Amino acid sequence: MRSRPIRSVAVVGAGMGGLTASLYLAQRGHEVFLLERAKYPGGTAGFYAKRGMVYPTGATLTFGLEPGGLFASILQEVGVHLPLYPVNHVMDVRLPDRNVPVVASRAEWLAALKTSFPERASQVVRFWRAVEKTAQAAYLFAKARAALPVQTREDFLHILATMAANKSMLGFGVQRLRATVADALREFHLDDYGPFRLFIDAQLFDAVQTTSEWAAWLPSCLALDIYRYGVWLPQGGVPALAAAMADRARTLGVHVLFSNTVTDATYSQASKQWCLRTNRGHELCVDAVVNATGTRVTTQTDEPVSGDNSASQVSGAQWGAVRIDALMSGQGVQEAWFHRDDPRAPFAIQIADDAGVDAPHEGPCGPLYITFHPEEPAEDRYGAPTGDHAIRVTVSAHTRPHDWLNLPKAMYHERKQRWLQDMFERIDRRLPHFSEHIVTCSMGTPLTYARYLNKAWVGGVPLTVANAISRPRGPKTPWPRWYLAGDTVFPGPGMLSAALSGFFAARSIDPRIGQRAYKMHESPSSLVRR
Ligand SMILES: Cc1cc2nc3c(=O)[nH]c(=O)nc-3n(C[C@H](O)[C@H](O)[C@H](O)COP(=O)(O)OP(=O)(O)OC[C@H]3O[C@@H](n4cnc5c(N)ncnc54)[C@H](O)[C@@H]3O)c2cc1C
Repeated sequence: MRSRPIRSVAVVGAGMGGLTASLYLAQRGHEVFLLERAKYPGGTAGFYAKRGMVYPTGATLTFGLEPGGLFASILQEVGVHLPLYPVNHVMDVRLPDRNVPVVASRAEWLAALKTSFPERASQVVRFWRAVEKTAQAAYLFAKARAALPVQTREDFLHILATMAANKSMLGFGVQRLRATVADALREFHLDDYGPFRLFIDAQLFDAVQTTSEWAAWLPSCLALDIYRYGVWLPQGGVPALAAAMADRARTLGVHVLFSNTVTDATYSQASKQWCLRTNRGHELCVDAVVNATGTRVTTQTDEPVSGDNSASQVSGAQWGAVRIDALMSGQGVQEAWFHRDDPRAPFAIQIADDAGVDAPHEGPCGPLYITFHPEEPAEDRYGAPTGDHAIRVTVSAHTRPHDWLNLPKAMYHERKQRWLQDMFERIDRRLPHFSEHIVTCSMGTPLTYARYLNKAWVGGVPLTVANAISRPRGPKTPWPRWYLAGDTVFPGPGMLSAALSGFFAARSIDPRIGQRAYKMHESPSSLVRR
């Protein structure tokens, strides 16, 4: 018996995953309802306004937007176009004894590696050559839209075709399929080289949410080398991208419903429909649901189903974020560590010291990540006031959400104050007088994220071998017509990955989706060159 076709879909969560899924589904003629708790789109790649200023909620840089890049092709397929500015000097990584400039240009990067790690330059370069080759293979795999885990016949065929067309390159990946980055560091005799290991750990912790000991080699290589494919600032900043996607969704007829939190969903076997309820008392019955929130939605069916309907349970620690959003005086950005008039000034500074990620550590975990948002083009809706040429600055770090949730009010505020001071002290040690130039600031915690985005664990799935290779979560669930998207499912954290997961969810619902992007008779390598 043929099952009832899927005509209407509710997409819960207007982050990158939900927006992308909605766009693909609407383009294929499905009636799509995009339900979002916040007032604006983007989730952790969105924005919020405070005291007349607009700050990003999380993401500040985008990847995969180079010509022929993965994110670029996704946006092109769904009809979203936005001017982009390339960024070459992406960040300075301040290690205790040296500075590592992370740049997009491959030639400059290899030179920077040699000068930053002179004690073992040749080993470091050999290690990076392996990172590059593996990253190339992983990117090719992603560009061919090959999905893990294999849940459909199409997933299987995609993987076979990708491997058949690129045997030699994929050899680099397959060789160390279940390896961690630490295994590779040992192989290249770099595991005891403190500064390099600290650099790698800081980069991995921000990009794949875990450190070299646990980080799966294959996806980590792409995360480490993705800068070399190009780093981009959309005009108006990352939030403008989410806004453009939401605008496009409306044009395609998506019913975009902000300020609607889905509270629960019930499935009826008889009608083969899900009925969703929101905090505003709306009830909506649809043929399928994409949960793109990364959190659990209370669900019921009239016949029992075993298995989890969210991707909120993954192996290993998941992280939340603490962040300081501040205005820095014009004088501040004339300091030696960031000269605003120098076109070579870094977009971000990562402070990588010994702040642990181990269980007993109390305080912000891992590196501090500081971004600077100097004047943007006049048409920027999210720009800072020009007045004293003050600029917006954000500082973020990892934290354990349990340290913040359910605290008595006084204790919560005391902890916030202490951490704020701790973060500024750590920065001042490396960037002298940084905190003196802060004109105004506010601090967000996992409780803030939970309040506004319903999500305290905002880091996405850590790309350990278990989560990324052995048991990745895909879009399908044991629940009928209930799909997942976002950074808690394959391929993991980051806007690019979340968007790709949205594509995978849409393709699981409608296999016609993506047929134009990837045909089986077409070699995946020809797709890359196109
Ligand atoms: C501090 C920080 C910095 C980052 N920097 C970068 C960066 O520079 N570059 C990069 O690529 N990535 C970065 N990331 C990661 C990136 O932002 C995320 O991986 C990606 O945007 C997640 O997309 P998502 O689709 O999983 O949705 P999310 O962004 O997690 O959004 C989920 C949405 O679901 C909504 N929602 C939740 N529950 C409900 C409900 N019950 N009903 C309705 N709506 C609901 C939320 O309000 C939210 O809008 C950063 C993340 C953080 C936290």
